[in-house]
Amino acid sequence: MEGWTRRQILAQATIAAAVYTLDPHELCCGSMAYAQTAGAESFELKKVGDGVWAGVAAARYKVNSNAAVIETNDGLVIVDSHSKPSAAQSLYKDVQGVTKKKVTKVINTHFHWDHWQGNQVYADGNPGLEIIASDRCKERLTDPNAMNGGTAFIDKQIAAMPGEISRLKDAIQKVPDAAGKARLEGNLAQAEAYLAELKTMKPPVPTRTVSQTVKLQEGGREIHLMLLGRGHTDGDLYVYLPKEKVMVTGDAVVDWMPFIADGYPEEWIQTVAAIEKLDISQVIVGHGDPAPKSHLTFFRGYLTDLVDGVKKGIAAKTPLEEMKKQIGEALAPKYEKGMSKYPLGQYRDRVGVNVEHVHAKLAKQG
Ligand SMILES: [Zn+2]
Ligand SMILES: [Zn+2]
Repeated sequence: MEGWTRRQILAQATIAAAVYTLDPHELCCGSMAYAQTAGAESFELKKVGDGVWAGVAAARYKVNSNAAVIETNDGLVIVDSHSKPSAAQSLYKDVQGVTKKKVTKVINTHFHWDHWQGNQVYADGNPGLEIIASDRCKERLTDPNAMNGGTAFIDKQIAAMPGEISRLKDAIQKVPDAAGKARLEGNLAQAEAYLAELKTMKPPVPTRTVSQTVKLQEGGREIHLMLLGRGHTDGDLYVYLPKEKVMVTGDAVVDWMPFIADGYPEEWIQTVAAIEKLDISQVIVGHGDPAPKSHLTFFRGYLTDLVDGVKKGIAAKTPLEEMKKQIGEALAPKYEKGMSKYPLGQYRDRVGVNVEHVHAKLAKQG
């Protein structure tokens, strides 16, 4: 797909308006994204090593993170718990199809809502469960002012969802075609179900934190919990299995366009460069299919070119709106195809917002 469609320009405007209010990964009403996945199962378990699976989340209007499932002699370690208990239950049901072992540890890669709000599914009736995150992640989860995740953000979503639901209802009235109407009605059903779940949600926060990289010997399996500095957030935790050569990144690496609002773009480039030095055969990313190691280089390339583009724009005193267009076009030949594989998080829907966020961060640094 070349150039900007009207939909994409509209979607950009909607994202720009929505991104600071509620939803770090998606927008309310502007996207075509969901028709082909609205009825899909929530997860697909993909084996990436002996006793290691990626729980790949289907693209849905109310987005879910991927999970990693690691079997040990003592039980299961699960990385990330999605945006809601029903999603964690769905993943857990799939997991029981491959192993009946008990979940002993849950790891939250970062504080965003779509990676931890299902924690209670694993904690309920399981008093021995350990929930592990970085110390900074836990601080964010309990910080009343944290953006885009944490206990307080659940209340913010409960407050914001009725507005989102009424915007969807308005959009359903206005959409001219039956297919568009059906798609938005699917989104509305998801939004209403999500609000109902939010009201009963009580995800437990981590019971154990790490402040630097630790190497766990976990039931016969070596699991490294790696802290490499700030990136997607200031508390990103990577989970690395050196023997199986599997890296679990959370949203520090995704297979669609990155979300930068809570990020540190220049430091982020360095953290991805640091994991590229490791022996890796498969990367379980935060969203999208497991990827080969080469994806790390591609993803870092995008962040690098994005930051360079914004720096040049600032030096040339290019107005922000102009910069968004220029960088969007300049980087498209290299990144549009690879960053537009799924109905969600596509290049043209996100690049302008990415430019805005990088610009805001660089401006703040002076
Ligand atoms: Zn995410
Ligand atoms: Zn995230």
